[in-house]
This record gives sequence, C-alpha cells and structure tokens, in this order.
Amino acid sequence: MADRKSTGMPRMIRGSVVTQRRRCGKPTCHCASGETLHETPVLSYSEGGRTRTLMLAGSDVAAVAAAVARYRAALAKLQADGNAGLAALAARVAAQRATGRPRRGR
Ligand SMILES: [Zn+2]
Repeated sequence: MADRKSTGMPRMIRGSVVTQRRRCGKPTCHCASGETLHETPVLSYSEGGRTRTLMLAGSDVAAVAAAVARYRAALAKLQADGNAGLAALAARVAAQRATGRPRRGR
C-alpha cells in the first residue's frame, strides 16, 4: 500500500500548527463539565486579516508541521536576502554620491 501520509502533502505551508480545545456541545459528553475538552490539531493561518483554522488529521500533523517549518525557513532566507540587497544598494548609492559626482567648489 502507498504511503498515504506523504501523498499530496505540500512542501511548504503558511500558518501554525496548534491544538484547539473546545466543547462539542453534547450535554452528556465528558467535555460538558469543561474539565476535559476535545483537542483537535488545526492549522491556524490568516487570510484577509482574519485568523482561520483548518482541521488536521492526526496522521498529517507531523508532515504539516514540517511543511510549516520549511516555509518559515524559506521566508527567513528571503527576508535576509532582501535585507542584504537593501544594504548593498545603500552602500552603492553612498559610493556614487561620494565619487560619482565630483563637487564643484563655489
Ligand atoms: Zn464533547
């Protein structure tokens, strides 16, 4: 049988894997007292300024968390590259200002 855990799992996912604790609403359930709530793994993410959640199958949690970690690492690298580019541009502009335009004394 094929490995269903990895089938179709995206390489990168934006969001955070969190555990949602809630009551199911059934008055006879053990959660009704509020002592022991149901724990559901979800992917929490923001979209259009709202925080949304996506329920996860227990067997997907590890793979989703790994994809979230890959996304964060890629994002951090992208930001670092962008900051390095900004610093390089600032140095280039400063060098042009210093040497590119000879000043005339007045
Ligand atoms: Zn319940």
